[in-house]
Amino acid sequence: SGNLGRHGDERSRQAFEQAKKVLPGGVNSPVRAFKSVGLTPIYLDHGAGSRVYDIDGNQYIDYVGSWGPLIMGHAHPEVVSALQETASKGTSFGAPTLLETKMAELVAERVPSIDIVRMVNSGTEATMSAIRLARGYTGRSKIMKFEGSYHGHADSLLIKAGSGVATLGLPDSPGVPEGVAANTIAVPYNDLASVQLAFERFGDEIAGVIVEPIAGNMGVVPPLPGFLEGLREITSRYGSLLIFDEVMTGFRVHIHCAQGRYRVTPDLTCLGKVIGGGLPVGAYGGKREIMEQIAPTGPIYQAGTLSGNPLAMTAGYTTLSLLTPEVYNRLERLSARLEEGFTVNAQEAGIPCRINRVGSMVCPFFTSDEVVNYETAKSSDLELFRRYFAAMITAGINIAPSQFEGMFVSGVHTEEDIEATIEAHRRALRAL
Ligand code: PMP
Repeated sequence: SGNLGRHGDERSRQAFEQAKKVLPGGVNSPVRAFKSVGLTPIYLDHGAGSRVYDIDGNQYIDYVGSWGPLIMGHAHPEVVSALQETASKGTSFGAPTLLETKMAELVAERVPSIDIVRMVNSGTEATMSAIRLARGYTGRSKIMKFEGSYHGHADSLLIKAGSGVATLGLPDSPGVPEGVAANTIAVPYNDLASVQLAFERFGDEIAGVIVEPIAGNMGVVPPLPGFLEGLREITSRYGSLLIFDEVMTGFRVHIHCAQGRYRVTPDLTCLGKVIGGGLPVGAYGGKREIMEQIAPTGPIYQAGTLSGNPLAMTAGYTTLSLLTPEVYNRLERLSARLEEGFTVNAQEAGIPCRINRVGSMVCPFFTSDEVVNYETAKSSDLELFRRYFAAMITAGINIAPSQFEGMFVSGVHTEEDIEATIEAHRRALRAL
């Protein structure tokens, strides 16, 4: 594995100092600054397959995968050549193209809840637009979400949020007007009794419930048996829409997304990450009757200059086409091995550890409690995580600089990558 590991960071240090002069905190998205782990961020130069290479000449086995999109690894040859071909014909038209229809057909075919779909440019846009649609369609104002879940940075969804908000330990964000916050009801994940109580109180005001069918922004937290089914039942009973935010889980955990894996069908689904194959794409879709309430067929407005962009559609379509049942079997097998290796390592080192995993989403927590919601996720020893993170990076294993994000295994990780990762993890835990 050659120069696997972080052996120096002089250039990254310089790059970060220079960046701080022109970018807030030196970054365009907060967690990238490595603030909570107290290290210099890694400035990446290039990636290939399961590996990334930084500007100091260090090499890493990558489990960040651009925070989820790169399920087929970095610079996949088929994605790159499709992009080159598309780019040579022009990068944006703001007019309909055949590519968009082809992409929408594939998405509608694979996602059980989606009859028709609207393409946007990010996960944030997808959830923000789905919420507007739910409100417009039902004529109601309130939205229910779950503590520690992250659905992008739209005002009404920043309440009790996970991901970077949790990583940085921020209070509910300033800049979100009180009136907006008052329309968001946040309850604990996996807690149907709280959902039921809130519906008894506000039921006819709740436009929709937005949920990550597998929570991925407080670490990885699977739904307890019956949780998603319960949400389906309660929302139907009260005439609220059930919105699955599958930005992270979509095409990651199953060829038919989390809704295919758990066989619960929401009214609306938000997508992002994997469907863009590394380019900026999001999407929201669902029942025709609901989706046709958006313009131009309906009065609810939502638009985008770059929506359905040819490059974005090409990267997404090519990536989805690569995702065969064999790839999902491979992801399951490699990820199960990773989980098993990590579990043995933790036992041997005598370190309290809970590993949550669904398919290729894997998250070790430093706690002996079962992690079922944000409260229990926070019981993880964050100081231990910091030291663990530093040890993993030093050993050349690139993981997210936060306890509240999982690892993503890709279809191009090899058995050797997984074994090298387990060995690095073993040594990291022993040194803690
Ligand atoms: N929803 C979920 C479940 C996510 O994980 C994320 C991003 N991590 C988003 C929405 C927001 O997506 P984006 O960062 O593309 O705006």
